[in-house]
Amino acid sequence: MERISGIGVSPGIVVGRVFVLDDESRRIPRRSIKPEDIDRQLARLEEAVELSACELERVREQAEQDIGREAAQIFGFHVSMLRDKVLMEGIQKLVREELITAEHAVDTVFQQWADRFRAMPDSAFTTKVNDITDLSSRVLAHLIGEHGTSLEEIEDGAIVVAAELTPSQTVGFDRDKVIAIATDFGGRTSHTSIVARALSIPAVVGLGSLCNRLSDGDVIIIDGGRGMVIIDPDDDTIEHYLSEEVVRGEHQMTLREMAKLEPITTDGVEIQVLGNIEFAEEVGPVLEFGGEGVGLYRTEFLYLAGEREPTEEEHFAAYKECVERLGGKPLTIRTMDLGADKYTQAQSRNPERNPALGLRSIRYCLKNLPLFKRQLRAILRASALGPVKLMLPLVTSIDEVRQSKHLINDIMEDLAEEGVAFDRDLQIGIMIEVPAAALMASNFAREVDFFSVGTNDLVQYTLAVDRTNEKVADVFAPAHPAVLKLVRDVVRAGRRREVPISCCGEAAGDIEFAALLMGLGVRTLSVSPGNVPGIKRLIRSISIARCERLAKKAISFDSDTQVSMYVRDRLRKILPEAYDNVGSRRG
Ligand code: PEP
Ligand code: MG
Repeated sequence: MERISGIGVSPGIVVGRVFVLDDESRRIPRRSIKPEDIDRQLARLEEAVELSACELERVREQAEQDIGREAAQIFGFHVSMLRDKVLMEGIQKLVREELITAEHAVDTVFQQWADRFRAMPDSAFTTKVNDITDLSSRVLAHLIGEHGTSLEEIEDGAIVVAAELTPSQTVGFDRDKVIAIATDFGGRTSHTSIVARALSIPAVVGLGSLCNRLSDGDVIIIDGGRGMVIIDPDDDTIEHYLSEEVVRGEHQMTLREMAKLEPITTDGVEIQVLGNIEFAEEVGPVLEFGGEGVGLYRTEFLYLAGEREPTEEEHFAAYKECVERLGGKPLTIRTMDLGADKYTQAQSRNPERNPALGLRSIRYCLKNLPLFKRQLRAILRASALGPVKLMLPLVTSIDEVRQSKHLINDIMEDLAEEGVAFDRDLQIGIMIEVPAAALMASNFAREVDFFSVGTNDLVQYTLAVDRTNEKVADVFAPAHPAVLKLVRDVVRAGRRREVPISCCGEAAGDIEFAALLMGLGVRTLSVSPGNVPGIKRLIRSISIARCERLAKKAISFDSDTQVSMYVRDRLRKILPEAYDNVGSRRG
């Protein structure tokens, strides 16, 4: 039995069997085959090699046209390597003699070749290592992409263990088959973690090299609340964890009771608590947990969940469903925030070197106008059905706002001409999630109807810390005084122009950060559905005057550690039930 700590990103305790999800760019798990399966594996290998060779021929022809015959020769070399008898025989032999899958044999033999080239003293050979890796990935993509073990093969629920998961993979999980998730990489606010929470799949990320240590069928325990994975647990431990689960279930019940209460502070200030959603079906949990509407609808998941770009009708159907489910409660639809970790780099023909600073969000939409317009039309049409607001993500310049408003006006005119209903007074707001927008908030306040602070990205860009990188998870600190100062200035700028300010980053669902936000003047919090009751309980236990004192003191500290220690110490006294006996807290 072994315990491994990671970052708990979605609560819940699960005991189950592991399913290691293959990823052709990483380790290929060794899977044994039966002797009668050898022929099938060899046929798969042949097919994958043939497909790769044809693909490379096409690449070579195109390259000849684009960059000239000489430079295109490299692809000729790739094809001849693929057709190399020695290489192929080596792979076939491994399948036959070691009774392993074609993908494991390909991975092993290509790696041996790469090691051999790497060891050669002549640098002309060492440069070939890249070519070999490239070739290996190409063949593996055909093997794993088309035939590899997939979740379809899981019979009962399994715990998916992977090096990394993209949000689109996570979205695609069948909730009946995937009972928990554990990954080597990732951070609390990475989109995969957000999706896991949205789907209520217990998850722990940032576990280092867990993937390499487990094989299909291994039994593990996932404790998503504490960020713990237990490999090969003994019976006592399993029993202990299962009884904890029951205790936690009861705890949820009391939070459900809290969900019914009015979110008013002890000194009578009303705070609006809304929910963040990625799918229309989540409106149900938001309302169940006591949310008063949706403050952030991450619509890019419409794109990520499907194979292709959604049509205007598909957008509209999703928004209509949300409006109907909300029954008159407000809905803020954020335009697609594609890019960075929400647009798998594999999808891009030219992967960006630095996607978090690349063509993402509003930049992406403004460069892909037909896609953007389709969504804007659908949002406008939905605005006729209920209280809808439109929010633009990752805004860094006034020009982006003006250009978007211009487009929206054009679309309004088109719709009016077509006789299609929409809300002429549709409120247009922006996310404040980069320091530039926070620092220029008073300028933006002249252009927009509302602000919503997105701490996930604001922290990432202010502290220069990748929100998805587990190695720097400890540096990802919403309570950093620099972040608090930016939020304070945004609130001041907004108030001067009567622009309402909400916060919809994950940190808004954390009671300690939420208390600081309230102290800084934020009166609307939009949080993951499961965090709504806990935030309501906080609101009913504290006064705004106290939050203001907390925030004032916090902002005067030098470091986030001081801020966190101070706020935790105070909140423990005000709300001891939010802290459990191991010191972790719940929203
Ligand atoms: C944020 O950045 O805080 C936010 C809410 O947006 P997302 O997490 O979707 O990037
Ligand atoms: Mg963001």
